Amino acid sequence: MEESKNVFPGRKLVVISGPSGCGKDTVAKTLISKDPRLALSVSATTRRPRQGETDGVDYHFISAAAFRDGVEHGDFVEYAEYSGNCYGTLKSEIRSITSRGLAAILVIETRGAANIIAEYPECLSVFLMPPSVEILRHRLIGRGTDNMDEIERRMALAAEEMKLSGRYRYTVVNDDLTQCVNEISSLIDGYCFELN
Ligand code: 5GP
Repeated sequence: MEESKNVFPGRKLVVISGPSGCGKDTVAKTLISKDPRLALSVSATTRRPRQGETDGVDYHFISAAAFRDGVEHGDFVEYAEYSGNCYGTLKSEIRSITSRGLAAILVIETRGAANIIAEYPECLSVFLMPPSVEILRHRLIGRGTDNMDEIERRMALAAEEMKLSGRYRYTVVNDDLTQCVNEISSLIDGYCFELN
């Protein structure tokens, strides 16, 4: 049976979005390591694991067929194609996090974020902005996980993604990691937990 909309408490959803290489994953992992009231929503993806990535921790790595099945069964709150692969937020992840009274951190690209914001306008949406386009390119090259073609593709997408920052509740520049994490921490404190 099709699940009804808005089945999760929107104020317990924290959407962190922004271009690839802006530091979303590091920011999210740092936030979670400092605050036991937060948990990462582990997405499903058809992308192959990179070196050092673990199934079930970084992503649920699944086949394109399994992803299609998940879409047909209504398993995703949102999903999007990004640079040739599919990525999606699983309802089961969000459910298991919010049912424990925790806030779920969703680290997702901008189209998926737009869908979450449309369905859960009360969510805490944060656009993570790189200090500059040059720094973004350096970070993508520096992390050494993608070849130059992929980096150029991601840079082109980044230019489009940065135009969408105005749709988010907050924009935070990720220049200094500690400062950026502290800023988002206090947004979360005030927004997700103030009513508890
Ligand atoms: P990467 O291949 O670098 O791990 O991820 C590519 C992009 O997909 C990143 O911007 C990442 O945040 C985004 N992404 C990861 N999981 C999801 C998801 O569940 N849904 C959407 N829409 N994007 C995701």
